[in-house]
Amino acid sequence: MRNLTGEGRRRKGAPLRPGGGGGYLPRPVRPTCSRCQRPVAFCLCLPGGAIACRTRVVILQHPREARLAICSAEMTRLALQGAELHRGVRFGDHPRVRELCLAPGTALLFPGEGARAAGEAAREPPETLLVLDGTWLQAERMRRDNPFLAELPRLAVRPDRPSGYGELRREPGPEHLPTIEAVAQALGALEGDPARFEPMRTRFREVVERQLSCARGPRRSPRHRPAAG
Ligand SMILES: [Zn+2]
Repeated sequence: MRNLTGEGRRRKGAPLRPGGGGGYLPRPVRPTCSRCQRPVAFCLCLPGGAIACRTRVVILQHPREARLAICSAEMTRLALQGAELHRGVRFGDHPRVRELCLAPGTALLFPGEGARAAGEAAREPPETLLVLDGTWLQAERMRRDNPFLAELPRLAVRPDRPSGYGELRREPGPEHLPTIEAVAQALGALEGDPARFEPMRTRFREVVERQLSCARGPRRSPRHRPAAG
């Protein structure tokens, strides 16, 4: 049997769906997650649903990062209530991003000199936390090419464990974390409740593990190629 959800469900004697040539085209129906729109086997969502948080998270994603199979930024957006994701390199003409940057109470999650530890801002947490998603170099360029981003107060987290990418992707240094882990850690510190955001990190590791086992298996890519004809 080719699939368990499509053809097998058709009742005996039920009318056939007409195909292009007048015959029935069996279309396997893969169950899809209504939130992330991916096949359930490749769902990126948290099992317990999106987490409520006081600080709105807005991810600015470098377009090249969006092509990667494991989308830590997309997972972050799905994991948090009210989170937004905008793609681009320069955001000078992006009304929403400009509006957020000009609003008081917006901070940028970006490590380095001059950044405050997120835990220190717990008493007066930012209303919006902007996060740059890309390689280290891409993120640094995004910040440099968008002066209004460079002017924002910065927050940082000190990683409390190694990156969840494991062998899938090497971060440039131990202080660099995947977007979802950095955000989970920052929100945990800002809201004084790291355990509440722990499911984001657990889910990320599960998705990485799923990706690794796909890569190890006989099928190199997790994407299904449509059958010929
Ligand atoms: Zn999903």
